Amino acid sequence: MSKTKEELAPHIDEIKKALKEEVKPHEIETELETFVNTYGISLPEAKRAVIKKFGGDPRVLSPKRTYTVNDLRTGLFRVDIQGRVLTLSKRTYERDGQERVLFSGILADETGKIEFTAWDDYGLEEGKAYRFSNSYTKQWRGRTQLNLGNNTTVTSLSDDALPPVEEIQQDALMNIDRLIQMGGAPGVKVEGFIVGIRNGSGLVFRCPECNRVLQKKSCMIHGNVEGKPDLRIKGIVDDGYGALYLIAGREVTESVLDHDLDQCLKIASERMDPSSIQDMLEERLMSRYVSVSGNVFTDDYGTTMLVNALNHESRDVKDEANEMLEAVEG
Ligand SMILES: [Zn+2]
Repeated sequence: MSKTKEELAPHIDEIKKALKEEVKPHEIETELETFVNTYGISLPEAKRAVIKKFGGDPRVLSPKRTYTVNDLRTGLFRVDIQGRVLTLSKRTYERDGQERVLFSGILADETGKIEFTAWDDYGLEEGKAYRFSNSYTKQWRGRTQLNLGNNTTVTSLSDDALPPVEEIQQDALMNIDRLIQMGGAPGVKVEGFIVGIRNGSGLVFRCPECNRVLQKKSCMIHGNVEGKPDLRIKGIVDDGYGALYLIAGREVTESVLDHDLDQCLKIASERMDPSSIQDMLEERLMSRYVSVSGNVFTDDYGTTMLVNALNHESRDVKDEANEMLEAVEG
């Protein structure tokens, strides 16, 4: 595994370029040789270590690569990515007595969507396709976010570089482990089994003042009030990669139940049991394979999707097996 001087020579040049301070080549050579030949550290690792040792930034060595949205995680530098700007909004803020602009929006490619922030006016337009070079990711409010900073360059792409807006706008299917890792994402879809319907699902009554769900006809802030009826689902979906909390409002709940709020109130009063609606939801959802779409965020309780749509999906194991066989047999 030992490397000769000749083998190390080109790397010494590369390291020298990565250093801001002037360091003599033979000093770099001695260090690199020690790391590689004495300590048996792999060459790429050793190069990074030498650069660090001389006060440089080893990140400059990492090869630039083109990412897709689905590849992104917090803490990446030199990110090159192509995407379509789906939404864009502008804010002004003040720093050092100067008014500055900040743009934020959603960037999408075939694999997903991510929020981005641009700390400069790059002339971005909604609906257009771009390549961002040298952008970086960081965490913002629990989610991975793409940032366009001082070193980022933005290139306009031809419109056919990416799928059209209508197509790319659709919620991208994502695995739950990735969503948890990213801390959530706007407009995504997950497919999995409903493994839990939590208490407080079904028919609930909300405080007319603050909209909190009443417990025993009482609001924790406003005491005894005349509650407004509402429907919701609090559930858990598991896709085999992870589990995600779900919260769905009245519209989705009505469609799952195939009953509207008035009908639910009637059923509950006939059975003299408000929890009968939760029972109905359990019957219709527990252990069922579904697709859910919506916005995913992370808070103290975990990673949660605010569900815009919930659909039963057929998942016939026999069909899947056949499909696989067909694929294998070509
Ligand atoms: Zn209240």
